[in-house]
Amino acid sequence: MLSGEEIVICASDKIIMNPSEHIRRVFLLPQDVSGQKERNMSELKIAIQKSGRLSEQSHKLLEECGIKFSNGAGVLKSKAANFPVEILFLRDDDIPQYVEQKVADIGILGENMVFEKNKDVIILEKLGFAQCRLSLAIPKEDKYSGPDYFNNKKVATSYPKLLSDFFKENRIKAKIEEISGSVEIAPGIGLADAVCDIVSSGSTLMTNGLREVKTILKSQAVIIGSKKLSREKEDILKKFLFRIRAVKSAKENKYILLNTPESSISDICRILPGMKSPTILPLAEKGWCSLHSVVREDEFWERIDQLKKAGAEGILVIPIEKMIL
Ligand code: ATP
Ligand code: MG
Repeated sequence: MLSGEEIVICASDKIIMNPSEHIRRVFLLPQDVSGQKERNMSELKIAIQKSGRLSEQSHKLLEECGIKFSNGAGVLKSKAANFPVEILFLRDDDIPQYVEQKVADIGILGENMVFEKNKDVIILEKLGFAQCRLSLAIPKEDKYSGPDYFNNKKVATSYPKLLSDFFKENRIKAKIEEISGSVEIAPGIGLADAVCDIVSSGSTLMTNGLREVKTILKSQAVIIGSKKLSREKEDILKKFLFRIRAVKSAKENKYILLNTPESSISDICRILPGMKSPTILPLAEKGWCSLHSVVREDEFWERIDQLKKAGAEGILVIPIEKMIL
């Protein structure tokens, strides 16, 4: 922000060059200064995990959105240099509560934690990373015939709400042993009969002699938001979500270039409809064209097979950095 001294010097410059402008400045400057203050007040506060499985990808996502900020060891918050946001570095468990209490305006965390904490927040966007599931696992030698297995058992978890909801829905009477970490060792040390924990590949469970038997919830990283924001913050949030969606669309699609005989163009356009329609450019060789389009990542291999059958050659596939629809 400008200091009072700098403002006066700036106004004096104007009096030498243009007296009327000086008068305008003298009367308008205090307002400009308060406007600057207001701008600082209306920075959007974004909570992300300080360190853990979500932090690297949350940082990367903000960087891909063009938001530059520093994050040294021990730093708890950081203002972005080029976008009106402040980043708060927190434990993921605390983010829903901080967003509900408006300490942060939005937060990036796993859906598992959002549903476990059950705070008064809304999910604004699914982000596609940190895909995992909350599952029940039992000693691998035990027989499992259904949720009844858990009747009269003790189950260790860091997700007592979600587990208790599951037991209620299935009319199971089990004891929930709440622990905050290393849940998978609980049966091995005699603390519980089974566990309910986050799983992705299942290798941690296997290493601890456990077998996944029931998924309670599928989860991915999401952006949550406070239910009510000021007008200024809403505007910043809109711009932020616009950037996030451009980054996400780019990741979900690839740019594709190929050569095709003119006779195959209509078939290829049906396979690759593109954002509006494909770009078609003539090649130096008569009767041939170059066709440019986009293809969804999840349909990619299927489309490539169809393109080859339709006569496409020299297919190049290029990652897209940003995609504005
Ligand atoms: P904190 O210290 O912030 O409380 P934590 O140890 O509780 O961190 P992490 O293990 O870093 O939490 O996991 C954070 C989130 O990452 C989980 O809530 C979940 O959404 C996701 N997650 C956890 N394990 C995996 C996994 N194996 N694969 C993918 N995502 C995962
Ligand atoms: Mg945590």
